[in-house]
Amino acid sequence: MLDQLNRLEGEALAALETVKESDALAEWDRSYLGKKGALTLLLRAVGDLPKEERPAFGRAANEAKVRLEAAYEARAEALRREEMVRELEQGTLDVTLPGRPAGPGHLHITTQTLRRIYAIFAEMGFQVYESPEVETDEMNFGLLNMPPHHPARDMWDTFWVSDEALLRTHTSPGQMRAMREYCPEPIRVILPGKCYRYEQITARSEHQFYQVEGLAVGRNITMADLITTLTEFARRYYGAERRVRIRGSYFPFTEPSIEVDVDCILCEGQGCRVCKYSGWLEIAGAGMVHPVVLQNGGYDPDVWSGFAFGPGVERPAMLKHSIDDIRLFYGNDLRFLRQF
Ligand SMILES: [Zn+2]
Repeated sequence: MLDQLNRLEGEALAALETVKESDALAEWDRSYLGKKGALTLLLRAVGDLPKEERPAFGRAANEAKVRLEAAYEARAEALRREEMVRELEQGTLDVTLPGRPAGPGHLHITTQTLRRIYAIFAEMGFQVYESPEVETDEMNFGLLNMPPHHPARDMWDTFWVSDEALLRTHTSPGQMRAMREYCPEPIRVILPGKCYRYEQITARSEHQFYQVEGLAVGRNITMADLITTLTEFARRYYGAERRVRIRGSYFPFTEPSIEVDVDCILCEGQGCRVCKYSGWLEIAGAGMVHPVVLQNGGYDPDVWSGFAFGPGVERPAMLKHSIDDIRLFYGNDLRFLRQF
């Protein structure tokens, strides 16, 4: 059978030499390498051989197959070249025809939204402060007024990296890092970045998302400054005619805590599916920095005060562009990305 194999390979290579155009090449491929091709049939017959001869024959047959496939590719390439030369000689190939341009690409919708948010807060005097995505338990929870076993830790389902380290569940640990770096100077920063939560992925929630935390610390900062800042942000991002509503809330690291709503940009407050017929959309949690947090950051809460807020990034983009599924942001579907 080895002889048969060698003969077949020689015959196939000789036949390939005579192939002059692509139909004949396809026919050659079918008759030797195809499902019912001569080599395939020979390979299948390996079961008829005595057991001890099978490995050697199998190896030889596979090597022959690799050689024939390479010869086929080489012949196909040669034919393509010949074809091109022929077209050039006949003048049917227009080499001045412009190629198909590869698009230059553009920024991801998330990046565009982040940059818009940076720009708005930069105009109000906030600078960008970056902090790590992998945090310690102490930074993510403890120093933010959530000692171990604090029930509020349940508000954030956490990805743990080790007993002590975790993927930050919010950008708030950056507040602590900024305070410790700038103390005793006043602070006005935004802290953008990815956050992670151990959550079921649905159209409304991803386990990875962006936040842009804001923090201001100074000697006479009041709730009025916070509300003004967020109202200004809402009007610059969503439109000048937007109205803002404040509701009481709870976060361990702010006191008092609030939720900030903007009147629904889709129905102008009339009520629709997106705002669940309430006329309002939640845009951020916020509040006055808790005295314990100020203290942990190095500031005397009797002298200093501050506010913090934490709008998302995907959510505002979803509202502004009527995107109904947060999973699209990470799906890398070009049909989605090209729209922005
Ligand atoms: Zn609405």
